[in-house]
Amino acid sequence: MEKYLFLFLLPLLAFGCKPKPVVADFIPELREDEPFTYQDYRPEDVQRPETYEFIKERNPNPEHYFPDTTNERYLPIRYLQLNFHIMNTSDTLFPFYGEKARKYVKEVVFYANELIRKTPEIWLRPDSMEVPALPRRLGFNLAKIPGTDEHAIYEHYDDELYWYLHNGRKRNRASREVINKYAVRKDSILNIFVMGPPRDSVLSKSFRLSGVDGIYLGDAIKITGLLSRDRPPWEMRNVLAHEIGHALGLGHAWTRNDGCDDTPVHANRAWSLASGQRGPGKTSNNLMDYSPREESLTPCQIGRMHARMSDITGRQRKWLLPYWCRYNPNEPVRVTKDLNWEGARDFNTDIYVRRGSTLRINNRLHLPEGAAIHVDPGARLLIGPAAVIHSDCGGQWAGIRRGVTESGIGGEIVIDPAATFLNEKI
Ligand SMILES: [Zn+2]
Repeated sequence: MEKYLFLFLLPLLAFGCKPKPVVADFIPELREDEPFTYQDYRPEDVQRPETYEFIKERNPNPEHYFPDTTNERYLPIRYLQLNFHIMNTSDTLFPFYGEKARKYVKEVVFYANELIRKTPEIWLRPDSMEVPALPRRLGFNLAKIPGTDEHAIYEHYDDELYWYLHNGRKRNRASREVINKYAVRKDSILNIFVMGPPRDSVLSKSFRLSGVDGIYLGDAIKITGLLSRDRPPWEMRNVLAHEIGHALGLGHAWTRNDGCDDTPVHANRAWSLASGQRGPGKTSNNLMDYSPREESLTPCQIGRMHARMSDITGRQRKWLLPYWCRYNPNEPVRVTKDLNWEGARDFNTDIYVRRGSTLRINNRLHLPEGAAIHVDPGARLLIGPAAVIHSDCGGQWAGIRRGVTESGIGGEIVIDPAATFLNEKI
């Protein structure tokens, strides 16, 4: 019996060593240098509503907004627009006005930008957790006075609303009066009020000059501590960046409820320790803790800020310079690895998904008028059910273009029927 079984298997074994038979509709190999052209690809089975209202994403995952160190442009850089209001009395209690004040404010913004661009090592991290210092993808932009080329630095001489005390019996840190009276274009610029202590405090012998303090009040920031004393502009960068951190959705890093598990809970004692007792592993240098070195940000903190700045229903995105509206065809984003965009993105250029790479889009994606998503032969584009692709600045984004070779090999495109396309070019 065994002998016959062997005879039966023999032809099969022989056949197994031969190359596979070639069938008529075989898929040809994509040659490395095979030329291809892009063809418009207009999916039929996708949502194209006449009107659409964006829904706020509850508790977005910061990980969906982590900067990618292999190509930082996968997470577009954001420029926060700021204006400044310098408060003083009618008899200039503070010698801080005119050209001197304007120059100082510009320098504060310069140093704050320098601080936010750096990526210092993170001094305190949870046990056994790697917490890399990632690029922040954030810059601060001093706005212009509407209709002029002048920087938006306003001076107000107001004998009632000029002062701000952060602590003590007379504190008025939570007062919004000065904001209500003087804020300019609150819906598109983050207003910063630079204020000093009241006259009786300045004149009082018992008045102790405090450090710099600030507060974010939901739509504007008040800062105190510079008018009453000569402080170099770089000393103001931390309080400005810290309050901006609050404005962009960050809590205090030492607390348990800041929404980030890569910022350990700690006593926040850096200021009360001798300088020899401060340092990596001992005290925090997190921007959102109190210390002489407020400068580091964890991936979760960076992700949280970008989630806020990408929320089309929120206030923070409206404070950004909308440079994504100006189409720049010269610097496209080239996807050269597998990416899964579960977070929202605003690009000012085209996207090219290169051969061998897969791009999945599953959140809001803005492209300006003229910009398209290109899918090369050998590349894959997956569009998930939560995707909403649109142009937020009027006009139409240019749709999807599929690269196809002469032999008929094209990029692979899979679109969930629940995905939404708005103002796509037809
Ligand atoms: Zn704070």
